[in-house]
Amino acid sequence: MKRAKRPSRTRVREHTRELRRAINLMDFVASGTIHKRTKVCGRQNCRCATDPGARHGPYYEWSRRQDGRLVHSIITPAQAELFNHAIQNYREIQRLLGRWERETAKEVLNPGSQKDT
Ligand SMILES: [Zn+2]
Repeated sequence: MKRAKRPSRTRVREHTRELRRAINLMDFVASGTIHKRTKVCGRQNCRCATDPGARHGPYYEWSRRQDGRLVHSIITPAQAELFNHAIQNYREIQRLLGRWERETAKEVLNPGSQKDT
């Protein structure tokens, strides 16, 4: 007798075990981008006014959306390194969540259609 399979949370858990493990290993997570900038100070007699190589900096800036607004923070080089790591983690989580969504959709729409691991 053939019985219709029902969507199974256990199967989704099995199919997403690796991606959940990968997320579990992450620490810092941040969205946005890091920019490295140099600046002119505006003083007429400063070298930066005429020599692009004498611009001040570099300064690092972290930009991200917060409550729908774009927010910028000046950060230290050490913080920039941490945020770069955090942003990589964020992008990886987005990618993994996409897989998780697809596993969920497959299981709910067509239960047990893929091989069990
Ligand atoms: Zn200057």
